[in-house]
Amino acid sequence: MNNFVDVILPIPLEKSFTYAITPAEADFLQPGMRVSVPFGKRKIYTGLVENIHQKAPQVYDAKEIHQILDDTPIVTKVQLEHWKWIASYYLCTVGEVMRAALPNAFILESETIIYRQEDVQVSDEELQDDEFIVYEALHHQSSLKIQDLMDILDKKNVLPVIKRLIDKEVIHVQEEIYEKYKPKLVRYIRLNNAYTSEAALQNLLEDLSRAPKQRDVVMTLFSISAKTKKPVKVSELTEESNASSAIIKALVDKGILEDYHIQTDRIQFEGEAESDSKALNKHQEIALNKIEQCFEKENITLLHGVTSSGKTELYVKLIEKQLNNQKQVLYLLPEIALTTQLVERLQEYFGEQVAVFHSKYSSHERVEVWNQVLQNSKKAKIVLGARSSVLLPFQDLGLVIVDEEHESSFKQFDPAPRYHARDTAIVLATMFQAKTLLGSATPSLESYFNAQQGKYGLVELKHRYNNVLMPDIEIVDLKDKHKRKRMTGHFSDRLITEIQDTLKENHQVILFQNRRGFSPIVECLTCGHSPQCPNCDVSLTYHQYRNQLRCHYCGYNVAMPKTCEACGSVELDSKGFGTEQVEEEAKALFPDHKVARMDLDTTRGKYGYEKIITALEQGDIDILVGTQMLTKGLDFRNVRLVGIMNADNMLNFPDFRAHERSFQLMAQVSGRSGRTKERGKVIIQSYNPYHRILQQVSTNDFEQMYTEQMEDRYTYKYPPIYRMIKITFKHKDYQKVNVGAEWYAKSLRTVFHEHVLGPEFPPVARIRNQYLKHVLVKIPQKQSLSKTKEAIVKINNSFLSVKDFRAIRVILNVDNY
Ligand code: ADP
Ligand code: ZN
Ligand code: ZN
Repeated sequence: MNNFVDVILPIPLEKSFTYAITPAEADFLQPGMRVSVPFGKRKIYTGLVENIHQKAPQVYDAKEIHQILDDTPIVTKVQLEHWKWIASYYLCTVGEVMRAALPNAFILESETIIYRQEDVQVSDEELQDDEFIVYEALHHQSSLKIQDLMDILDKKNVLPVIKRLIDKEVIHVQEEIYEKYKPKLVRYIRLNNAYTSEAALQNLLEDLSRAPKQRDVVMTLFSISAKTKKPVKVSELTEESNASSAIIKALVDKGILEDYHIQTDRIQFEGEAESDSKALNKHQEIALNKIEQCFEKENITLLHGVTSSGKTELYVKLIEKQLNNQKQVLYLLPEIALTTQLVERLQEYFGEQVAVFHSKYSSHERVEVWNQVLQNSKKAKIVLGARSSVLLPFQDLGLVIVDEEHESSFKQFDPAPRYHARDTAIVLATMFQAKTLLGSATPSLESYFNAQQGKYGLVELKHRYNNVLMPDIEIVDLKDKHKRKRMTGHFSDRLITEIQDTLKENHQVILFQNRRGFSPIVECLTCGHSPQCPNCDVSLTYHQYRNQLRCHYCGYNVAMPKTCEACGSVELDSKGFGTEQVEEEAKALFPDHKVARMDLDTTRGKYGYEKIITALEQGDIDILVGTQMLTKGLDFRNVRLVGIMNADNMLNFPDFRAHERSFQLMAQVSGRSGRTKERGKVIIQSYNPYHRILQQVSTNDFEQMYTEQMEDRYTYKYPPIYRMIKITFKHKDYQKVNVGAEWYAKSLRTVFHEHVLGPEFPPVARIRNQYLKHVLVKIPQKQSLSKTKEAIVKINNSFLSVKDFRAIRVILNVDNY
């Protein structure tokens, strides 16, 4: 009797590959163990044993495996089953799911992988164009293969670029980085040594009698350190003394106070948990009881709790119960980079039982967490993670929490598997007969609809903790303000007044400017021409501090022209505006205050994001200008005013989810204001002050927004009423994409008739010299999803068997976001 093993390979093959093994190997091997196997002419891959059997493959001779790499499985049976579900639901291969799931260190490949050197910051002047393109691409993807580089640069010989980038220390190649979680730099403050004697301090206080505010600060500092006998954080001092950062800065400048930093390590949690979880207030208590009631009947419950209602404290209670039953908990978050605050909070309660997992971790760290989860170790009872943590080897999962469940970044765009982590987590939980709690202040229409249909339990929490009022939201009419000349740059007089008042009372301000595609575009006032990227169908955006025009898709850049390239006119105007410009203007308007900016550009460096968040927490920033990064669940105690610079560009975005998203973004960013004691204030500037969504944001009327948006979704047959599969075609040749997409759409129409839309070019129809075209398939609720997919796969296969079409890349995206 001959023995065989089916092996899942980390490449997009439809089926697993069969290899021959000896009887002894057959005895030893189990599904979920790694083996290295030969493939093709010269390649060796690490693959995963799927099953062991005695059926020889029919169409090829089974080769022998090369090596067995594990003594025990590193992937569980449930995982394999879960991966198969992902592959079939999201129309990809199990190998692709495995690729996404396994830390790189588990997969040895005969292909070089290129990583960005984490802590370097290079300005693009230091890089040649092709180097810059690679550098940019590595910001979107943590690693690239040689093949990816050939695609991106559109040439075969990419080794010289790689070599130059290694020399410049911008990238490194396939080595392990051993590195722990990001340290947090906290700013502390102390009295200068010269004043520590009692006499010196007396003199100082007398000297300061003319500057009572400064004197207060010194006294407060003295009393805090006498009381606590510990280093004093700048934030403690500002809070206790109610002093602005300007006053503290003045004292530092005079040499009376000294500031210094202590590095606090966030992941290396030492010792026991420090505190018990908080006692819930009565609203929270009721909500918790309701959640537990729902869980008796449903597997999934949606918690709709307004911002700052204390949802996190509810999660903590639910986690405690699971830990008492020795169960594992998965706590999913949209983007882990944005969660240091939460890590600290959970560690305070649960100590070393919290493990953090996300793609920015080094491969070594990920292997560590993987093994802890696999062994059901005490050190990973609670996994706090981004998207990919649903792919971990859980042994005994009791609860999944999906926080900020509405976030679109739970959906992976590229590469396959294009899975939605929330929906994938629900399936995983079901496999363990575990419960799932979805939480949000602004639920997705999908989840709220499921709750309305009775598929999910629904629990509402409408009171902010401490009975802090919801922020007072005022909409400012930009058209009117312009007409009456009440604008300074992009700031209305109302916004300026509110900022002044807030700063005067030592509170902080957040200014929100959604940048996506709305950075300034240059337009000629004479002929209307605006400079375009030569590689992509998109206007170039203006970057002021470099005085350059840049393409946000491919990195192309040129110096800002002095005259219009079409008509020669010197009247060039920049339209629209981004965070950079808001920052500039804020600095000019409030020269005595510290203005900082948080967006992709300023958070690029290794600790860029950390530094800004910490500085805001510590009171080192008075006004923070930022993009949607600001919206994600951050808890800033001292922010009282939020300004939304321009609501219109979000609302006008060409996407059927634009209104829902705008509501979510604005409600979330508004929720950053007034989280403790004092009521927050929000100013929304818009040319359409009567827009329904703005009205609904200002009255915090989620239900009305839901009802109205759902009407549109019914009328236009969009999710969650219909399901959707988006098919994207990609090729350098415009004609090829056109012909291919037409052929495909026509075939689809023979099966799905009017439920096929397109082919259509997306708003940016060419990226990096590749043309894009989309076809949408809408799936009515009654239509079988698996039959639909079967039909699509069939069409897809016949498409790919046409010689002319084979070079076209086809991307299937199920439940596209
Ligand atoms: P959400 O996640 O709903 O936005 P949080 O859980 O962050 O709200 O709670 C908002 C603030 O209120 C936090 O600073 C939190 O520590 C505090 N808080 C919430 N519930 C309690 C409680 N039961 N006791 C003490 N503080 C609480
Ligand atoms: Zn012109
Ligand atoms: Zn471009």
